[in-house]
Amino acid sequence: MAQYEVVIGLEIHAELLTKTKIFCACTTAFGGHANSHCCPVCLGLPGALPVLNEKAVEYGIKAGLALDCRIPERCKFDRKNYFYPDLPKAYQISQYDEPLCLGGSVTCETETGLQTIGVTRVHLEEEAGKSVHSGDNILGSEYSSMDYNRAGIPLIEIVTEPDLRSPQDAKAFLEHLKRVLQYIEVSDCKMEEGSLRCDANVSLRPLGVQELGTKVEIKNLNSFRSVERALQHEVTRQSQLYEAKQQVEQETRAWDEARGVTVSMRSKEESHDYRYFPEPDIPPVHINSLWVEDLRSGLPELPLSRKERLQRQYGLTTYEAEFLVSQRSWSDFFEAVVQEFDQEKMVVNWLMGDVSRVLNAREETLPQSQLDVSGLVELLRLIDTGTISGSQAKAVLEAVCATGQPPADVVQTLGMQQISDEDQLAAMVDAVIAQYPGEAQRCREGDAKLIGFFVGQIMKGSQGKANPKMVNELLRKKLKL
Ligand SMILES: [Zn+2]
Repeated sequence: MAQYEVVIGLEIHAELLTKTKIFCACTTAFGGHANSHCCPVCLGLPGALPVLNEKAVEYGIKAGLALDCRIPERCKFDRKNYFYPDLPKAYQISQYDEPLCLGGSVTCETETGLQTIGVTRVHLEEEAGKSVHSGDNILGSEYSSMDYNRAGIPLIEIVTEPDLRSPQDAKAFLEHLKRVLQYIEVSDCKMEEGSLRCDANVSLRPLGVQELGTKVEIKNLNSFRSVERALQHEVTRQSQLYEAKQQVEQETRAWDEARGVTVSMRSKEESHDYRYFPEPDIPPVHINSLWVEDLRSGLPELPLSRKERLQRQYGLTTYEAEFLVSQRSWSDFFEAVVQEFDQEKMVVNWLMGDVSRVLNAREETLPQSQLDVSGLVELLRLIDTGTISGSQAKAVLEAVCATGQPPADVVQTLGMQQISDEDQLAAMVDAVIAQYPGEAQRCREGDAKLIGFFVGQIMKGSQGKANPKMVNELLRKKLKL
């Protein structure tokens, strides 16, 4: 392999989080009875006219800006013609020569360090329907049914330059891209529900050669792991062909997850095979530059710069900052909590430790959970002031997440407050000394080990609520140690 360079480019499709479809008012909700989210427009009935959803354009522009693209003043829609049953009109409304966004780049962390990957374009298009086969797959099925609920959901297609140099980098890039799209809240990027999908172009060339080798497109990559595995398999396959002095065919191959191989689907189609032509029912779209600037200024801080800032501003380790930026909700939560409770290390430790553990056990995300910023602040203050112990706090956290009660109420209900009242503790100490006069005498005569015995009795008697540090001090005073 040493004498070949791997060249990878990705095409990523992400469903946009609009409430309605791109050219009609049908809902984009996932699931539902087959063909219940449809109308004449998304079913492609004759005479039905598409109307562009402004929100889809807005989300597309936001994605383009987050990927550092230029937003031309004008874009237009084209028809991409191909015949397949999941496409009710037998063409897909997409963008061809005048896309929404052009020429960006993304810097991301990979195993080999920071890398900048060029973004050729980002364009808008409509989603196709879904074939439901009677068997496991199309081959060997007796029949297939069509569900058009998905048809017409807005998509962005992000096309990268062939700048990636290894399957590991491709996976790292894709994970970073997913995070960016989630940060700017334009897509939920759920690969398991198909709202983020990826095709990869891969070729090899001898080291030092500029010209690109014959490329193969791989489809059907529906997890980050399969992206890496499929590319690895394809790199090996192509290098073996070159070693054996055989041709690599330009073709489209499908990843077979179960067998761990790519299989030939068809020879690669060229864009002219699709007979693109301008969509006559949607006029060209003029993008107001003031709108673009408005969207740009509304973009949140993106994950990579946020990670660097969190480390710098709060003295966090790389590992801690990486944890917090892995989801925007975690870093937002962290920064809101430290506004009110300024012990950053304690906050991040609780988030990475017990809060994560409790949420995982409940199968909830942070936004879904009943723990809010003021709840965690209150809990941390209760620990910090010695009102409850660390181990009691874990039980309080579980109760807060289960019931949504404020921590102080939980402490009250469970009768957990530590007893730190000096008079009350002194009475306990007197009582236990009176109960064990022999031990008290030996203690006074210098057997300091017996202090532990007395502390234990008091903790037991108070069901663990007595403040152990204060009990210790009181005992020493009364037994003159
Ligand atoms: Zn519709």
